[in-house]
Amino acid sequence: MADNKHFIHEIIDEELKEGGRCYGQKIHTRFPPEPNGYLHIGHAKALEIDFGTAELYGGICNLRMDDTNPTKEDEEFVEAIKEDIHWLGHDWDDRFFYASEYFEKMYEYAIELIEKGLAYVCELTPEQMKEMRGDTSTPAQSPYRDRPIEESLDLFKRMRAGEFEDGKLTLRAKIDLASGNFNMRDPVIYRINRLPHHRTGNEWCIYPMYDFAHPIEDALEGITHSLCSLEFEAHRPLYDWVVNNVSVPCKPRQIEFARLGITHTVLSKRKLRNLVENGMVSGWDDPRMPTLCGLRRRGYTPESIRNFHSRNGVSKVNAVVDFAFLEYCLREDLNANAQRVMGVVHPIKLIIDNYPEDMTETFTVENNPEKPETGSREISFSKNLWIEAEDFMEVPEKKYFRLFPGNEVRLKSAYVIKCTGCDKDENGNVIAVHAEYDVESRGGNTADGRRIKSTIHWVDANTALDAEIRLYDRLFTVEAPDLADCNYLDFINPDSLTIVKNAKVEASLKNAKPEDRFQFLRLGYFCADNKDFNADNLVFNRAVSLKDGYKPSV
Ligand code: ATP
Ligand code: MG
Repeated sequence: MADNKHFIHEIIDEELKEGGRCYGQKIHTRFPPEPNGYLHIGHAKALEIDFGTAELYGGICNLRMDDTNPTKEDEEFVEAIKEDIHWLGHDWDDRFFYASEYFEKMYEYAIELIEKGLAYVCELTPEQMKEMRGDTSTPAQSPYRDRPIEESLDLFKRMRAGEFEDGKLTLRAKIDLASGNFNMRDPVIYRINRLPHHRTGNEWCIYPMYDFAHPIEDALEGITHSLCSLEFEAHRPLYDWVVNNVSVPCKPRQIEFARLGITHTVLSKRKLRNLVENGMVSGWDDPRMPTLCGLRRRGYTPESIRNFHSRNGVSKVNAVVDFAFLEYCLREDLNANAQRVMGVVHPIKLIIDNYPEDMTETFTVENNPEKPETGSREISFSKNLWIEAEDFMEVPEKKYFRLFPGNEVRLKSAYVIKCTGCDKDENGNVIAVHAEYDVESRGGNTADGRRIKSTIHWVDANTALDAEIRLYDRLFTVEAPDLADCNYLDFINPDSLTIVKNAKVEASLKNAKPEDRFQFLRLGYFCADNKDFNADNLVFNRAVSLKDGYKPSV
């Protein structure tokens, strides 16, 4: 993000000039998640904008739990949010806050508004308030608007003291009942709600509304730029009204950007939570989830996610990005950086009949041809190998150039072999393929220069390790599962996970660690599962296939 200037940076550049709003100041942003779920790829966009902008200007970014709503917050989510942000490569240093730390201050600012004649206690029920909110040609009404200041002060203090039932009274900002922006029609800024709060317990029975609380939180932390998604645009006049009418120490500026949408998934914590609670996925970190912990477990790298956001850019126009572009960014990263290995997902035995029974030789292969500095490793070869079942056909289809009786193929990095036949069980299923090797083709090239059309992967049956391979596909079968008039749960892909238990992988993988990523030759990019992988239980998740037809336009 840092090398990629967007419209927010153009605004900031202007403000930093002599005479500008931020001249001589340090740029200070914040990321304010509500701790009611795990972060997803959309939050990562906001993270890149908030932390990335601070980074670009040598400024700082706070992490603040937006926990003014007492109903849903949970410590599990707070810890997970911190971990995901660190994983993406951002840090808030010692500036970690809870919005609930400011409840007392917010209360004082509310009192200040009442004393200035800019807020009043209203007795309309939510239904009455709705009835009296007017429309574009009729102003809203409240019979309590002109309540004397002293009376509002007294009632508000008694609201705090717990003298009234939930929902009975509200505190409303006195702004403009005729405003064309309904957010300015004397919005409610405090309500009574006797729900225990995850941090303040039962200390409060009144809670500030987001539109009042958020600008105060920003101002108390010295935030210069409050960057948020587009749905807050119509709330900006209220944001400005609050910072201009209470005696906060600074006046942050809110700037909105478009939210990220991605095809074939949903990006709402409520919907993601539903998937988890309905058992449609194994948890928030299921590798099919668009959560950061799910993507991480799947095999995504922080770099691929940051790169994805950077290339999508930042604008004011909501757009839906093809999931294939996210995969493209991952593939690009893993192609450059992942170690190459061989593994066989659907193994069948290959017996080299003219290879000595008790002989084993080793081949030295490059770990990553894209990165020679990563060196090489040894792989073993012997008479009995595992190959992919689909690399043999007793009766070849048209244009099938792999193993069939009489045909030659190259075993990657090893030898050229010629297929001689196969063994079958009583049901006619192929249980082993037979071949003979060309002694003079060590390394995979023929001595006489004859062309070999196909190269297949293999592992030595003497040294191969058993592995479980988890093959993932899209979680939803349609591009836009969360269209307003549909139920996204109806579009769950029943085949989004295939588990293969008896795969065979090369011996070097015994040294793999959870979250290590590999290119399995010809099969795709795989990641050692960060929960279930251990030395006795090798579990690899397919992060992404090797190729697809996707071509990015950026
Ligand atoms: P959700 O609808 O997924 O629950 P939210 O906006 O309620 O999202 P918050 O925890 O309030 O979630 O979000 C923290 C920050 O992340 C906010 O500034 C919000 O604007 C931003 N954000 C959330 N989703 C997206 C998205 N899809 N694209 C860009 N920014 C997002
Ligand atoms: Mg929210």
